[in-house]
Amino acid sequence: MRHVLITNDFYPKVGGIQAYLGEIYRRLDPTTFMVVTTQVPGAEAFDRDFPAPIVRLSRQLLPTPKMRRAIGQSIQNFAPELVVYDPIIPIGALGTSLGLPYALIAHGAEIRVPAHLPVLGAQLRRTVRRSLGVVAAGGYPADEVRKLSPSTRVEIVPPGIDSRRFHPAEPLDRAQLRERWMRDPSRDLVLFVSRLVPRKGADTLLHAMARAPMSSRSEVHLVGDGRDRSRLERIALSVAPPVIFHGRLSETDKIELYQAADLFVFPARDRWLGVEQEGFGIVILEAQACGLPVIVGSSGGTAEALAPEGGLLLRRSDARELWWAIEEVRRDRARRDVTCKSASAYVREQFDYDHQGRAYEAALQGLMHG
Ligand code: GDP
Repeated sequence: MRHVLITNDFYPKVGGIQAYLGEIYRRLDPTTFMVVTTQVPGAEAFDRDFPAPIVRLSRQLLPTPKMRRAIGQSIQNFAPELVVYDPIIPIGALGTSLGLPYALIAHGAEIRVPAHLPVLGAQLRRTVRRSLGVVAAGGYPADEVRKLSPSTRVEIVPPGIDSRRFHPAEPLDRAQLRERWMRDPSRDLVLFVSRLVPRKGADTLLHAMARAPMSSRSEVHLVGDGRDRSRLERIALSVAPPVIFHGRLSETDKIELYQAADLFVFPARDRWLGVEQEGFGIVILEAQACGLPVIVGSSGGTAEALAPEGGLLLRRSDARELWWAIEEVRRDRARRDVTCKSASAYVREQFDYDHQGRAYEAALQGLMHG
């Protein structure tokens, strides 16, 4: 079956949705699809190496008549049988206007917020009801779709990791990585990886480290960039252990830090009374796959990303609770080493993108052929 993916979020842009689509689509038969997406810096080189055709139309895809005509012309020769839109709004509102049946991909936040607004909520419901169905990137977005339209068919394909790249390092390699990345490799490396936005909770980690007398044995490493960075840098001034802001790192460097670290902390939290939540938290999978104990805030789909016994789920996601959790992981190191090994094996088997790619293909076939 030939289809076209129409999305605002595709590589080389960074982020969870981009990684989800990019990794899944890299694994599909490139003769069966094409991608229509946005113009972003670095796209030319990326598109040259990508095995399927990519058409980049503008900085943002909006459901206007002009955009509909431009997309129509771009896909004419390819002659797809199905259109897949991501996100559901705004671009999904084009619906069947391209003259083809369509499916949608849901991640969570893009539904939860507009579902409560009068005009956007009605448009969202209409778009979902007229579709063949929705591929949900986890149980949390699946629930959001079911609340919106109980009769819509939903197939769950959670995000994943590439198990060839995300795995624990051999002890000797790990020692070298610690030499490379740490100021003092005898300390504990506490790692946080994410875009620096308030929902991800890097501030909670810094506040927890500020109150911990034991924390002088640690180094806190933050990977990622974002609008919250200068606020976080100010908070870091009051933290006793060294805090290292790496900014945006390459994939290779990021994986080296996962492999060098002792503990991964991701205290994600709900914001705006639960209107803003974490859709899934791919970084939780990445850290576990690399063999790290993880401490995770409870928000949206984060619990789904935890392997059985894979880590600690915070209830309140505040600094005090996090501090206790960090101390608990430290005290219990021997048992954690065992559970982390099995969590890594579980995540690398259950969430490998090779598996997710096949599940996605089957989901589209299922939606198309009933
Ligand atoms: P989202 O961005 O809110 O969707 O958060 P997710 O946790 O779902 O996904 C974020 C993805 O971006 C994960 O694969 C992260 O490892 C990746 N990421 C975030 N910051 C960086 C960075 O600085 N460098 C690299 N290489 N990847 C990053």
